Amino acid sequence: MGKQSQLGVTPMSEDVSAWYNELVFKSELADRGPAKGTMVIRPYGYRIWELLQSQLDQRFKDTGHENAYFPLFIPQSYLQREAEHVDGFAPELAVVTHGGGKQLEEPLVVRPTSETVIGEMYHRWISSYRDLPVLINAWNNVVRWELRPRIFLRTTEFLWQEGHTAHADQAEAMEETLRMFDVYAEFALNVAAIPMVKGEKTPTERFAGAVRTFTIEGMMRDGKALQSGTSHYLGTNFARAFDITYQDRDNQLQHVHTTSWGMSTRMIGAVILAHGDDQGLVLPPRLAPVQVAIVPIGRGDQAEAVLDKAYELRDQLTEAGVRVQVDDRDASPGFRFNDLELKGVPLRVELGPRDLEAGHVLVATRVGERDAKGRPVKDTVAFDDFVTTIHDRLDAYHDLLVDRARDYLEEHSGHADDLEAFAAQVRHGFSYVLHCGSEACEDRIKAATAATPRCIPTEGAPEEGACIQCGEPSAYGTRVVFARAY
Ligand SMILES: [Zn+2]
Repeated sequence: MGKQSQLGVTPMSEDVSAWYNELVFKSELADRGPAKGTMVIRPYGYRIWELLQSQLDQRFKDTGHENAYFPLFIPQSYLQREAEHVDGFAPELAVVTHGGGKQLEEPLVVRPTSETVIGEMYHRWISSYRDLPVLINAWNNVVRWELRPRIFLRTTEFLWQEGHTAHADQAEAMEETLRMFDVYAEFALNVAAIPMVKGEKTPTERFAGAVRTFTIEGMMRDGKALQSGTSHYLGTNFARAFDITYQDRDNQLQHVHTTSWGMSTRMIGAVILAHGDDQGLVLPPRLAPVQVAIVPIGRGDQAEAVLDKAYELRDQLTEAGVRVQVDDRDASPGFRFNDLELKGVPLRVELGPRDLEAGHVLVATRVGERDAKGRPVKDTVAFDDFVTTIHDRLDAYHDLLVDRARDYLEEHSGHADDLEAFAAQVRHGFSYVLHCGSEACEDRIKAATAATPRCIPTEGAPEEGACIQCGEPSAYGTRVVFARAY
């Protein structure tokens, strides 16, 4: 803890868990709510969520989806209609037994996810092939009782979106499932700067009630995996439970095939853990509340002229569509630099009296080249050039974060063909192994190493052989990725 200053946090390299917990509070992303397991998302964190939400929502609209809202309360009997669904969610449910001072005739579940209530509505809305497909997304909050809460990663209440679609047949529903799986991976890469491992969940890790579940798994900077978005093909499971049928062109009654897909505030946790470093947050520019911070430096008579120029630059950058802030806090440059680093601001611009005279700014990136003393190497850029090149600079910084994350992923991934190599790999990253697919065998691996199957990579090379744990024939025709996971 020696390196922890009043402003800073325990270095990530010393203790990731302490680093994470201190950082979410000190960077003012979030706070704990009064009820155990709940979180308050503070303005700096909520702005990240808004940026995430708007860019993801645009992708949903571009792929033909519309937003709607469904109720928070669901009759308890609804969850019981789909057997696997109720088994999967029962331990996490919050149940309302009283309302308006009276005991309820039927308890209400606070939604843990909305397949059931939406199933009921689709039963009412769909009757003919002409009603299909139904392509709806909902932005809402859900509740899953959490015994070991961690802000953004596991909280009793969290924010997310849940897409729910209904289709005439399996082929169309599978196409939709994979389309949204691709949207999540593309979004993670191009907005959050996180290259994901894409794959299908093994049966034990599937969503409760799904036929197939697809996932994007990010590697955090401690080598653990974080499931960051899932897309499910639900077959006719919910259509049968909620009697969602339609008359096809031949007047035959058919069950619809449904999908669901979600991404949540967990993604903010992924951004923190995939990019952060000893100094604090590292925010990708497309999600950063402040993309550029201008730090005016100077006292006395020059201060005013410097400040004027800082505001002028701010206005020009705002005009160019950049999220920019002048950091004119009454604090030393050193304090401000450290705080901007902690908060992960992508570009820091210094402007002092001498810079003003020379007509340039000094630009430092949050992550990038450092001198012998570990200080950022600053770029000297003329005022006008800075404004005209700002988008290129932000894009280049995004690409740098992607490359850095991809290098980290590649350096911490490997194939293992014996348990010793496997155990070593999952201590620091992802291990690709052949597996028999048995749940008991997965459990033995988990007991020994804390690693679980994250996914069967969609782009895995075909391979067969003996299971790394039990020696039985491998099940999936390719290697499975195992890792410790959040
Ligand atoms: Zn096995």
